[in-house]
Amino acid sequence: MLLDLFSKNKEYISCEELEYGLHFDIMGLYHCCSFFHSNKNYIPVTKLTGDLNKDFKNFLRQKDKDKKSHRKGHIIDRCENCFSLKKQKWQNSKLIKKIAISANKRCNCDCIYCTTHTNKQYYNSIQDIPVYDFIKKLFDKNLISQDCEVQIGGGESVLHFEFEKLISLFTDKLSSRIAVYTSGIKYSEGIERAIKLNRANIVISIDSGNKNLYKRIKNTDKFDEVTANLKKYCEAQQYSTENHQVAMKYVLIPFVNSHEEYLDEFLNLALNLNCKALRFDIENNWYKNNMHNLEAIKYIFKFMKYFDIKSEKMQFQHFFFQAPDYLIKNNKELYNDIQL
Ligand code: SF4
Ligand code: SF4
Repeated sequence: MLLDLFSKNKEYISCEELEYGLHFDIMGLYHCCSFFHSNKNYIPVTKLTGDLNKDFKNFLRQKDKDKKSHRKGHIIDRCENCFSLKKQKWQNSKLIKKIAISANKRCNCDCIYCTTHTNKQYYNSIQDIPVYDFIKKLFDKNLISQDCEVQIGGGESVLHFEFEKLISLFTDKLSSRIAVYTSGIKYSEGIERAIKLNRANIVISIDSGNKNLYKRIKNTDKFDEVTANLKKYCEAQQYSTENHQVAMKYVLIPFVNSHEEYLDEFLNLALNLNCKALRFDIENNWYKNNMHNLEAIKYIFKFMKYFDIKSEKMQFQHFFFQAPDYLIKNNKELYNDIQL
């Protein structure tokens, strides 16, 4: 007990998700959705039993234990080597400050790099998990911080049967922006409303700037629908004071879309759609297999630098997602030495 009181005021290694996070997945409740960070198996903190109230109590019990372990300097197994870990003082708060939702696996795309790609039929047959009533209850009990960061993903987020209700709830209850990761194939009125109220951060991975490449990566022919929806979302920003709410993402898939001409097409498409924000990520399997391979890293650094310089020149707000950002941080000299 004394040790606990003493260590609560000290810096220790942890992460925001472990301290304050709640992630809903079809398998169970997790601290985070960053399962790929640590290369550990994606095992839930608490499995779903059909009674979310009970599952949540068990989840909180385990979260307390995990936090205590970190306070004592023992990194729990699931978090080992994760790049979200950092040493600092952590507030001893019970409030939920980060919510991630992946309560459906269904998707209207079939990206070649997606974890669902090898067994698409199966993933598309999994039923959505209902989460709306439970989250509403958490709000009613004041268990969610007003500036809680929310991420809605999937599967395809917009296909979840409660999506429109969920985005309305978060838009009305929170002061923060709601991050939505969507294929962009199905249009959402709720997203449009959130954008108009300056409450959204929408990311659409289009990974290409032309129909053929899009189809090769996504295994669907919906390029025109996605670009039309992107345009409408970008237009909705005119009602808000912030015009970086809608971002187009380029997931780099080495040897598939790693040509500079493809990236140029992507940048020109963003320009034509009046999309002001860009994100860059690396395909997860490649990342896992090559994160320590200097030759492979050098190969993609050239491409990343091209993205960085070109986006800057064209005045896009742009940044790298966690995996590429982590690669740069860990190989700074190599990145700085790249000449184009
Ligand atoms: S350290 Fe990484 S794996 Fe652990 S909870 Fe945080 S983000 Fe998730
Ligand atoms: S859009 Fe997302 S969920 Fe759908 S197949 Fe692609 S990566 Fe998977």
